[in-house]
Amino acid sequence: MSLLVVGSIAFDAVTSPFGSRDRMLGGSAVHFSLAASFFTDVRVAGPVGDDFGDEELAVLHERGVNTDDIEHVEGGQTFFWRGRYEYDLNTAHTEDTQLGVFGDFSPKLSSASTEAETVFLANIQPDLQREVRGLCTGAGLVGLDSMNLWIETARDSLVKTIGGVDLVFMNDAEIRQLTEEPNLVAAARKVLDMGPRAIVAKQGEYGAALVTADRFFALPAYPLETVRDPTGAGDSFAGGFLGHLASQGDGAGEDEGVLRRAMTYGSVLASYNVEDFGTERVRALTREEIDGRFEEFLDITAIEGVPMR
Ligand code: AMP
Repeated sequence: MSLLVVGSIAFDAVTSPFGSRDRMLGGSAVHFSLAASFFTDVRVAGPVGDDFGDEELAVLHERGVNTDDIEHVEGGQTFFWRGRYEYDLNTAHTEDTQLGVFGDFSPKLSSASTEAETVFLANIQPDLQREVRGLCTGAGLVGLDSMNLWIETARDSLVKTIGGVDLVFMNDAEIRQLTEEPNLVAAARKVLDMGPRAIVAKQGEYGAALVTADRFFALPAYPLETVRDPTGAGDSFAGGFLGHLASQGDGAGEDEGVLRRAMTYGSVLASYNVEDFGTERVRALTREEIDGRFEEFLDITAIEGVPMR
């Protein structure tokens, strides 16, 4: 099944305690696409400027991602984000955001994209996310991510957008901020009341939780000893999660077993993403490595005895 993602396609500058990069390929839609490409056919849509060239496109093409709906805006500048991490790698400190071509972006999608069965509205302005949702007439399952910036500057629009999707992926702090509810489970329930069927609360190095109307499931993060750059972990998580769901066919989003495996694939992809800067690690990843870490999760989470190896 085909999976469409619309979101930022960016250049990022990142400083972490383990090094820095002045300008590297990033963006919510890019991190998502690369992760999801291990599971299903992925199409990415969004605008880029004159500074975005063949070298950047090649990173997506190497993973088989369809870029026909990447729109080149003549004379424009690609979205740029600068962030810094201290020793608490769970918190990104935004130092600069330049919307560039996103400033007056109006999504145009090919019919192959509007027919995609699974859609991810990656982190962009919530009005734009809603516009894309409206165009995607073939979508049976729609996920969304957002961030503190939009909760602070476009809350009402974001709540309206959440009302039109099936799955919400957000950080625990953002879920609390959105609902003004300090307890995470209660906060996730308040987001469920806005309309979606499931909430994935990402908790950085502590893992992720899945909250639906009648169930709760949680996974720890993979116990990594080397984390160099957490940028894109959330999008890689969503890519692994929705990539797996899309590969399982119609109705997969209602099967608790598929959802739990999707949580695990999300955790696996996020764990690889943070091992190196930007897209460097996921670009070099193999399906065997993904399956290997999935197996390790079975061991890490076995509470009734140690499984055979
Ligand atoms: P995350 O998975 O949450 O770490 O997202 C990281 C990506 O989000 C980076 O590659 C940035 O380019 C992108 N990003 C940062 N701020 C924004 C924003 N305001 N809108 C869209 N994308 C953003």
